[in-house]
Amino acid sequence: MKMTRRDFLKVSGVSTGIALTGLFSLRSVRAKAETFRSRIRYAKQVTTICPYCGVGCGQIVSVRNGEVINIEGDSDHPINEGSLCSKGGALYQVAINERRLTHPRYRAPGATDWEEVSWDWALKEIAKRIKKTRDDTFEIKDKQGRTVNRTEAIGWLGSAAIDNEECYLAVKLARALGIVFLEHQARLCHSSTVAALAESFGRGAMTNHWIDIRNSDCIFIIGSNAAENHPIAFKWVTKAKERGAKLISADPRFTRTSSKADIYAPFRSGTDVAFIGGIINYCLENELYNKEYVIEYTNAPFLIDPKFGFKDGLFSGYNLKQRKYDKATWRYQSDGKGIPKEDKTLQDPNCVFQLMKKHYSSYDVDTVGQVTGTPKDVYLEIAKTYCATGQRGKAGTIMYAMGTTQHTNAAQMIRSYAMLQLLLGNIGVSGGGVNALRGWSNVQGATDHCILFHILPGYLKTYRAEDKDLATYLKHWTPKSSDPKSVNYWKNTPKFVISQLKAFYGDSATKENDFCYDHLPKISGNYSHISMFEAMYEGKIKGLICLGQNPAVAGPNVRMERKAMENLDWLVTIDLWETETAAFWKGPEGDPAKIKTEAFLLPAACSVEKEGSITNSGRWSQWRYQAVQPSGEAKRDLWTIDRIFRSVRGLYSYEGGVYPEGILDIAWSYGDGPDVHKVAREINGYDLTTGRLLPSFGKLKDDGSTSSGNWLYCGSYTEKGNMAARRGLSDPSGIGLYPEWSWCWPVNRRIIYNRASCDTNGRPWDSEHPVIRWTGSRWIGDVPDYGATVPPEKNVGAFIMKPEGHARLFGMGLADGPFPEHYEPLESPVKNLLSNTQNDPVIKIWKSEMDEVGTPDKFPIIASTFRVTEHWLGGPLTRNLPWLAELMPEMFVEISKSLAQEKGIRNGDKVRIASARGQIEAIACVTNRIKPFRMNGKTYEQIGLPWHYGFMGLATGPSANVLTPHVGDANTMIPEYKAFLCNVEKGVV
Ligand code: SF4
Repeated sequence: MKMTRRDFLKVSGVSTGIALTGLFSLRSVRAKAETFRSRIRYAKQVTTICPYCGVGCGQIVSVRNGEVINIEGDSDHPINEGSLCSKGGALYQVAINERRLTHPRYRAPGATDWEEVSWDWALKEIAKRIKKTRDDTFEIKDKQGRTVNRTEAIGWLGSAAIDNEECYLAVKLARALGIVFLEHQARLCHSSTVAALAESFGRGAMTNHWIDIRNSDCIFIIGSNAAENHPIAFKWVTKAKERGAKLISADPRFTRTSSKADIYAPFRSGTDVAFIGGIINYCLENELYNKEYVIEYTNAPFLIDPKFGFKDGLFSGYNLKQRKYDKATWRYQSDGKGIPKEDKTLQDPNCVFQLMKKHYSSYDVDTVGQVTGTPKDVYLEIAKTYCATGQRGKAGTIMYAMGTTQHTNAAQMIRSYAMLQLLLGNIGVSGGGVNALRGWSNVQGATDHCILFHILPGYLKTYRAEDKDLATYLKHWTPKSSDPKSVNYWKNTPKFVISQLKAFYGDSATKENDFCYDHLPKISGNYSHISMFEAMYEGKIKGLICLGQNPAVAGPNVRMERKAMENLDWLVTIDLWETETAAFWKGPEGDPAKIKTEAFLLPAACSVEKEGSITNSGRWSQWRYQAVQPSGEAKRDLWTIDRIFRSVRGLYSYEGGVYPEGILDIAWSYGDGPDVHKVAREINGYDLTTGRLLPSFGKLKDDGSTSSGNWLYCGSYTEKGNMAARRGLSDPSGIGLYPEWSWCWPVNRRIIYNRASCDTNGRPWDSEHPVIRWTGSRWIGDVPDYGATVPPEKNVGAFIMKPEGHARLFGMGLADGPFPEHYEPLESPVKNLLSNTQNDPVIKIWKSEMDEVGTPDKFPIIASTFRVTEHWLGGPLTRNLPWLAELMPEMFVEISKSLAQEKGIRNGDKVRIASARGQIEAIACVTNRIKPFRMNGKTYEQIGLPWHYGFMGLATGPSANVLTPHVGDANTMIPEYKAFLCNVEKGVV
């Protein structure tokens, strides 16, 4: 039985309003729904997890005669409890969709169209291209004579849309080939989160989880429109509000989230550091912080080198020529044993607390209002309301997404959230946390498996050219602590690294050959997304493998990124659809006859056509099952990765080549399937002396007797079975931990840093929502953050992943300062009011002729990009679905009434939006949701643009990223998508 759009709307209940208006009689709707239900009742039902956002909603797929006949919410699932948003509710149209790719395709140089080819042919040809490029460009030694074993001429992108097992295998393949330009979507959406949270707390992920939001007393949503972009998660905000919690929404636009808020604050995009800095200052001045928490769990009492300083926007050690800091003074004073000195009275002028007070003293309410544009009365109400969560027994959570993460000083913005939460004692507690809302269904898992140039699975540092051998590497990257109170969990780095090498190289990895350390490529620079496209633009990258990622829409400055792709000799795209990236040579400015890139397009299976695990934003790794066979000749990504590897390995074993041992020594044996469970077990790891699966990473060793592809997931697939597949619904905690539902890293701990949820005596700050508590002999509740029987009087540092055991208010690891400092976006019409340092002083400025930077005289209007609920990111998974395309069919721009009046624009008019990078056309949506800012006697207009559109699919339109700049954050090079300059005029391009 085929479902029509109307059936979909009726059965899913979305059309209740339509039915009641008389288009259908209620009886007829009910009768049709009942007929449909009875067909589902006797169908095979398979559970799965939604492939769109990071909420991780459960779904049930009904299958009849090998075909999907319905997909609906899983009512047993503890997060979504049966509900789905418009995207999850439309997944049926991904499974049944004539636009899906069903056969491999090939596009010859200069051709104007694709031709269908066989898998055999495609794999052979792709393997030949990879081998030739690798052999031609492989560097065994760099110019300084250091072993690097890499190629800088092949890039790999993606993916956050594939399963964990596929991510792991993708990394293993890419690293085996010597690829260093290795990236995926996390670079573009949350790389700044990882840098900031790891620096502050020790781990880079969402601290709590979706259901826990209901336990909050105050929810502060900034840089996120959760009601629109994580709609099912938002119901936990609603539940908290039903308990009496306050909701604060701070956003440049009045959004759907703002419409539900108790307090809404407009603020200028890119000024989060000032906005939060003012609240930190308010908290400190009014002594609203949790003093015991701050003294015992943060580095507030630690003494800093007296030579450390800060002047006019710059910290000590700045080198203008190199645009870089020498961090020599950003360090603790230590005693003779190397233990940091402390002043628990917090009075020493060099203690972190006093330095922080001094730093934030310039963030007074009036100055902050002039920087952010937020009205003073609203701002003070927010400061007062949120700081009330610093009281014992109260918890406040900060939820944020790409409104924060995509700025040139994004990592510092997130650091400021972390610092505020630490002052208020909101980390580790139920209803608290810094909760990064992930946009892709498995972007957390793909990040954990590190499809990123700078890290290896489990956040191990990628090997550097300067780390000449394994011992040097381990010495360099294993943190030390002389403090007996510090757990310093990263001291176990050698166990994680050597176990990973055993998983990668199996029996070939021996102590004698440094466990094949040399085989993995070594980096000596920045190979992130922007750098990759800059290198491609310069013609240095010859081949690109793009798996489930669409940079031709989602990349910054896409005209430049599409142009860069014209320099590729070959491009392999693996996807469900013909994306703009696959078809970049058909783009609005491309001339296929002149584009010599050979393109391969390999059809991929969708989420219900394969099984594997994905990890949601709250770190829950959930297993989804295969419901049906892939469409046509589409293949699981696991299969495609496996076959690419085997084809390349076949060539190297037959023909030889450059550094073949890097490929031939890889342990790669997953059966013909390949068997996803074998991969999942390899990720977990084995005791190699017994062949048994390990129960947790506490069992890993550094002598080669254990293996684990990713130590963080050790415990996910044990002798007890596949932990990610668990569906137990017990909740003994009563706070929604659901410890037997799926599996959560690390070691099934649902709220990380939970030792900090109790005072120094082991008593929960909040007795109503205890995460753990000390019984007198052990910790009970959630899996405690360190030994279950370590008594509180031992006073072990609560933040076990930091060498000092304390969370960092003063952080010495980031590139642009130990405290967040406000800087203006690269393109801004406003002079920095807090110092003469206008922009983040260490950001990299790219110089190609397509990297133009706009100035306010030509481009006076502030622009920002945003998302809508009906579309998903770069768009292929929604713009190809008729239901969603119809709901949100074309590109538009939100503009204020005052700007519309000034420019003579009416609602629905076509307008031109231009930036220094290009111009696009869109329909004007003149709305009160967006308003100009009035600051220092001047008015600054802003506009908002959805960024989902492109030239392929059913719903097409100009890409907002034509306008965005190629500039990244100082720490992670996440692009600046949220604050740039433009102009708007009535009329078409
Ligand atoms: Fe849930 Fe996100 Fe899927 Fe919507 S898109 S159903 S919120 S997982």
